[in-house]
Amino acid sequence: MPQMDIGIIGMAVMGSNLALNMADHGFKVAAYNRTAILTKEVIEKNPNKNMTGFYTLADFINSLQHPRKIMLMIKAGKPVDMVIDELLPYLDRGDIIIDGGNSYFEDTIRRHAFLQEKDINYFGVGISGGEKGARFGPSIMPGGNKNAYSQIQPILEAISAHVGSEPCCTYIGENGAGHYVKMVHNGIEYADMQLIAEAYLILHYIGGFDNKKLSQIFHEWNEGELHSYLIGITADIFAEDDPQGGQVIDKIIDSAGQKGTGRWTSIQSLKQGVDISMITAACNTRVVSNLIDDRQRAANEINIPTCAKNLPDNFIEEVRKSLYVAKIIAYAQGFSLYRSACKNYNWQLNFAKIAAIFRAGCIIQAEFLNKITLAYEKNENLSNLMFDEFFLDNINTNQSSLRRIICLAVNNGIPIPAFSNALQYIDAHGSPKIGANLIQAQRDYFGAHTFERIDKPGTFHHEWQEHYSK
Ligand code: NAP
Repeated sequence: MPQMDIGIIGMAVMGSNLALNMADHGFKVAAYNRTAILTKEVIEKNPNKNMTGFYTLADFINSLQHPRKIMLMIKAGKPVDMVIDELLPYLDRGDIIIDGGNSYFEDTIRRHAFLQEKDINYFGVGISGGEKGARFGPSIMPGGNKNAYSQIQPILEAISAHVGSEPCCTYIGENGAGHYVKMVHNGIEYADMQLIAEAYLILHYIGGFDNKKLSQIFHEWNEGELHSYLIGITADIFAEDDPQGGQVIDKIIDSAGQKGTGRWTSIQSLKQGVDISMITAACNTRVVSNLIDDRQRAANEINIPTCAKNLPDNFIEEVRKSLYVAKIIAYAQGFSLYRSACKNYNWQLNFAKIAAIFRAGCIIQAEFLNKITLAYEKNENLSNLMFDEFFLDNINTNQSSLRRIICLAVNNGIPIPAFSNALQYIDAHGSPKIGANLIQAQRDYFGAHTFERIDKPGTFHHEWQEHYSK
């Protein structure tokens, strides 16, 4: 008689911790991993009456109650297609496959359509929170067939992070919507991290503050409106001593990698024609950080200004305000991409609920997300988060700090691509002129692309004269 409520394939970091989380919540979990030794190790290390290891796919599948619920927590990409192919001969109509990995949402759309023809329900579920989140409560973004969602909802909600009694898990939309929302979440995470890194550079190289002081500054910021997981861990990082002397932060190479979700977000924004310049800047900065030899050469051959130490009054507070206003723009950009996806993929994304499930469990969890939920609850048709009264007030109050801090960083040769792009975004929207009249004229000049006029409707072409360009 099948006993198990759910089965998880993939007993690496994420799968094993999610399995233990489910078992703690009273669900009977079948655990399976391609390489059997890993399953054995996880079970031996974490004895739990609700969790059982299986060592053949047949035994694993036969242990599951109908309709079977099988969660894949494996490496994204080809392995997911391979495992689906292996599972299919064993499955019955109505069974459910849940892909909880970081799959590309277009793969999820394809797999969903393929499995729908076989009457298998396929869910692409974004899960954020890393190892700790998986074990004790991640933020969960499920996408798939709405009618089948009720079958997996109790498990996903129980294991998710909670704010009070509210689970950080909500049905996102059809097919790839859950993985899409997770992808953009990661893009916002890239921008958030880049902004914090830039605040660090400004405080350290212009302000001259040491790691102890930086830890104190970030700790204080974490007590106020910037309260968030990323600011909290940043305060911890600066406080961490290296057993070999000094602090760990100063021993780490100034070069960061990326796995792809930020880049995917950026590519999507270009395809959909949405400006998410801060997320793209964050990806590009990681790319440049890897060019160790070129950076060394440029440092030797380009005369970058050295840091002068004449700080404005309230320097730390000015950096804090700049960070806050730039963070608003990063989220405004990310949520604009969500809005655009609704049109492009025919999803009805609920922006207020998306912000609400990011409030705990995930990497970008922050006080600030309550404000985003409130903004979209007030007006679900808000064309841009910047136009909500709270955010608009904040931009108007703090933009002068952002301008001053950007000038200071630029004059001192400190790279601040995310701060600068935040201000460019504000100015591109807010300035009465953006220069597109000249762009239209140039396009018409060299390609007869026509232009529109301010004084009458229609499209026009002008016979441009070669006054100076011969
Ligand atoms: P991972 O390192 O991404 O993948 C390792 C797991 O995939 C192992 O269980 C491995 O089995 C399995 N696997 C690889 N190729 C396979 C194949 N062809 N057939 C069957 N199984 C295969 O594991 P992870 O870090 O736990 O992440 C799991 C998923 O969650 C990934 O999609 C990841 O991107 C996503 N995710 C990770 C995090 C995080 O913080 N780590 C956070 C959110 C989401 P073997 O032991 O047999 O090789």
